[in-house]
Amino acid sequence: MTRDSDQTPLPGPANGQVSFWHAQLGQPEPGPPLEGDRNADVAIIGAGYTGLWTAYYLAQARPDLRVEVLEARFPGYGASGRNGGWLANSMTGGTERCVKAHGRAATEAFQHDLDAAVDEVIAVAAAEGIEADIVKGGELLVARNLAQLSRLRALDAQLQDWPSERHRVLDADELADRIRVAGALGGIHLPQCARLNPAKLVRGLAETVRRLGVRIHEQTPVRRIEGDRLVTDHGTVRARHLLRCTEGFTALLPGHRRDWIPMNSSMIITDPLPRHVWDRIGWDGMETVEDLAHAYVYLQRTADGRIALGGRGVPYRYGSRVDADGRTAPETVAALSRILAEFFPAVRHDDGRVPVAHAWSGVLGVPRDWRPTVNYDPTTGHGHAGGYVGTGVTATNLAGRTLADLVLGQDTARTRHPWVCHTVRRWEPEPLRYAGVHGLYRAYHLADARESAGRPSTHPLATLADLISGR
Ligand SMILES: Cc1cc2nc3c(=O)[nH]c(=O)nc-3n(C[C@H](O)[C@H](O)[C@H](O)COP(=O)(O)OP(=O)(O)OC[C@H]3O[C@@H](n4cnc5c(N)ncnc54)[C@H](O)[C@@H]3O)c2cc1C
Repeated sequence: MTRDSDQTPLPGPANGQVSFWHAQLGQPEPGPPLEGDRNADVAIIGAGYTGLWTAYYLAQARPDLRVEVLEARFPGYGASGRNGGWLANSMTGGTERCVKAHGRAATEAFQHDLDAAVDEVIAVAAAEGIEADIVKGGELLVARNLAQLSRLRALDAQLQDWPSERHRVLDADELADRIRVAGALGGIHLPQCARLNPAKLVRGLAETVRRLGVRIHEQTPVRRIEGDRLVTDHGTVRARHLLRCTEGFTALLPGHRRDWIPMNSSMIITDPLPRHVWDRIGWDGMETVEDLAHAYVYLQRTADGRIALGGRGVPYRYGSRVDADGRTAPETVAALSRILAEFFPAVRHDDGRVPVAHAWSGVLGVPRDWRPTVNYDPTTGHGHAGGYVGTGVTATNLAGRTLADLVLGQDTARTRHPWVCHTVRRWEPEPLRYAGVHGLYRAYHLADARESAGRPSTHPLATLADLISGR
């Protein structure tokens, strides 16, 4: 049911190996697994940003607590070590929908804390000596055709209502002063976003929490949760508080197959580009960049002068399967390379080749209503956080602080945000799930193609797909 060819060796760029970010630093030597049965105060499943931020704030607030993290592979094996490195303040699902459901004041308070979380991550990284190539240059949304320009204008009108976003509309010339994207008609700059190296952040966080006394048991997949115990092949951990921080892998745990689907996102990264290419592109401000396509792409300029570009390849695998260490289908690598060359024709070599060094993929947790959750039940001691879709680099920090508050029984402004104890409708069973997600992405791609061909406004297929998907 899937076109993905996970196992076929490919010529060309490095493929998989979890991510370029990890491969560049040298694949981590996985640490020791759990050895036998243990007791803890708090046991966390998953050493991604959510699990590690939760552990960090718990260890800061209560150094006396025994906090143990159980990780199937190694810290940052999931999306936290594979992402596009956008530390952005976006609210998953959008502010407008949040206002409709929870009112203006609650949405403003939530947005305020998401804005602050961007600076909190930067501040903690500095305080803990985590060097993650962080540059706060803001984000640039770029319109590459008339329909995208119409959505850019609608976004401008919407953002007028949110002065705290401090957005600035750029015409084509003003945009070109920052970055020269071929055919771009204009853009919006939003200042509250930073570019970072995801694996450096997650590895630094893991080291930091270990220094604070948190134990991370690696190579220890949790098979199931039974009452107050996490059951693994190496023993069990019994704890008063059990926190599930497994995002795109959640469907693999018994009883959670239809909570969040593992949506795939794929990335490519170029070789370091020579000075003359950067002279033609510009991009000295290190802004993160995204277009306004329905199947949009997101980009960053790395500290060592590469371009990393991500987008949707195979969107979803039948039965909520996840990939094998980030292996990416050749069609996806080719499609993303084509988009990169369309954005920046100067990257192509004289022979037409796009200098792609590495391709990889990862999974995001996508809730049926596109809204994330931080949940904790004081009676069972069970909690979880996730469902950030593609915006977890910042949101995981706020979620981790919130989970820590909830575990500690503290009633704070954070524990009253709309995502706390939000329950989502479960996804449809298969084959509906597979057919639905692939159908929606076919609609988005078709709408994008029509819009690229000159349609001046959003194609109705995309509007319908948004309505059905709850995006
Ligand atoms: C390609 C890609 C690009 C992205 N780009 C961006 C971006 O630029 N900006 C942004 O904000 N967001 C982005 N995201 C999303 C963001 O990376 C995630 O929202 C965030 O990293 C989620 O962190 P997490 O800790 O909740 O999950 P993860 O990082 O996925 O961590 C979950 C961990 O749990 C472990 N685990 C799972 N099941 C078990 C089990 N049963 N037992 C033990 N351990 C288990 C996994 O091995 C993993 O290490 C991107 C995601 C991808 C895949």
